[in-house]
Amino acid sequence: MSSNIAQNYPYSSEDETERAASIASALARDGSLADKVKTEADRLPKGDRWWVWKCPSRGCPGLLHTAGQARNARAVFTICDTCGKSSLR
Ligand SMILES: [Zn+2]
Repeated sequence: MSSNIAQNYPYSSEDETERAASIASALARDGSLADKVKTEADRLPKGDRWWVWKCPSRGCPGLLHTAGQARNARAVFTICDTCGKSSLR
């Protein structure tokens, strides 16, 4: 798969248990992320399935998991489970 094609479409989906576990481990790895989520995102509405995206960082094999509802945009606030970068989707 070519790495210079922007992959903004969802890659997969996961259930609430998987999502919560992925976000919890990303936050546990980087303490500053938890503050960032608190500042930039609101709590998610209740849901059963969540989209997962490929991380856009060059060379990162990670996946973006939904951490919250972006406060200043109609978007979801996501965190990569590998490089820890946050982005909006
Ligand atoms: Zn990444």
